[in-house]
Amino acid sequence: MHRIVNFGAGPATLPTPVLEQAQRDLLSLPGVGISALEVSHRSPWFRDVIDEAEANIRGLLSVPTTHRVIFCQGGATQQFSMVPMNLLASTGRTAQYVVTGTWGSKAAREAGKYGDVAVAWTDAASGSTRVPAEAEWEPSPGAAYVHLTSNETIEGVEWPRLPPMPSGVPSVADLSSDFLSRPLDWGDVGLAYAGAQKNAGTAGVTIVIVREDLIARVPDGLPAMLDYRTFTEHGSLYNTPPVFAIYIVMLVTRWLRDEVGGLDEQERRNRAKAGVLYEAIDASEGFYRGHAERTSRSSMNVTFRLPSDALDERFVAEASSHGLAGLRGHRSVGGIRASIYNAMTLEGAASLAAFMHGFAAATRSSSLDDV
Ligand code: PMP
Repeated sequence: MHRIVNFGAGPATLPTPVLEQAQRDLLSLPGVGISALEVSHRSPWFRDVIDEAEANIRGLLSVPTTHRVIFCQGGATQQFSMVPMNLLASTGRTAQYVVTGTWGSKAAREAGKYGDVAVAWTDAASGSTRVPAEAEWEPSPGAAYVHLTSNETIEGVEWPRLPPMPSGVPSVADLSSDFLSRPLDWGDVGLAYAGAQKNAGTAGVTIVIVREDLIARVPDGLPAMLDYRTFTEHGSLYNTPPVFAIYIVMLVTRWLRDEVGGLDEQERRNRAKAGVLYEAIDASEGFYRGHAERTSRSSMNVTFRLPSDALDERFVAEASSHGLAGLRGHRSVGGIRASIYNAMTLEGAASLAAFMHGFAAATRSSSLDDV
């Protein structure tokens, strides 16, 4: 069987043992006799699956008992609406959004439909290349919440750690593209959400972790499927949840727990993978230009450009012929983006770094020939 190295930004590469297990369970689950794609969400089998998925997430991330873990649909994009509908509309206060890239900007725009929104800081005008330094912005003590995007997937800009909040102000974190990639300090985090299709599984399920006391803010009258209480009160089983997607989250989190050994080790591996790629950029004497400023460099999405758009294109095409796929930058910003989520191996990242060294050297010597 032939599998290429998949640097796609999401849906993204999954751990091979997870795919093998899913393949074994695709025709018939042991002891159940039907496929994981056919099984009822009310079955004892699924009860165990959703319980283990939650327990694994809680264990890996040390989620405090004050927080509930729920499984929604509609992607992280639906959370751009659900967060303000549930946590802003009834408060009469302002929500602050720190916009460090495309996704944070979309989240802020959507929230403006449901209440007052203030952009607390952004460098969008200069291309979203970094997160702010502590002295550059201030969370307001009266804010309903402060929304942050822990990793901007398109620009490759990541908070080294989430910033502290004034007392009484919860942060709301879009963790979509670095969920489960490193430990998280829950201190001020009131709500965190992540689409599963990068680090945690496949498209179709969004994990939401919400502090129980914030549920009291939820106004009556929201559509049932957009009201967090529908999920907390029914254990995410009010209607038919995405059974297979939750099952994959269970397998991925079991893999993180048992085969990786937890998020400290996963973070060490992610830093090592990112390290070889940033090293290839830095060693190229300007041939590759990283998008993010050094202190905000993402361990998940490594973004860079070559000296021209034509070379970007050639790089993507030649990499693809070497079995290195999914490297084209997001259509809105161009350039190259290598997504190296948890399931990407160090060997995969190293093979891209080797290709980068070779491509730069070959391009340089052919341009010397041209002279
Ligand atoms: N936020 C971030 C940080 C993302 O990377 C993405 C998807 N790439 C989204 C939100 C939107 O997620 P979805 O497609 O699951 O709605």
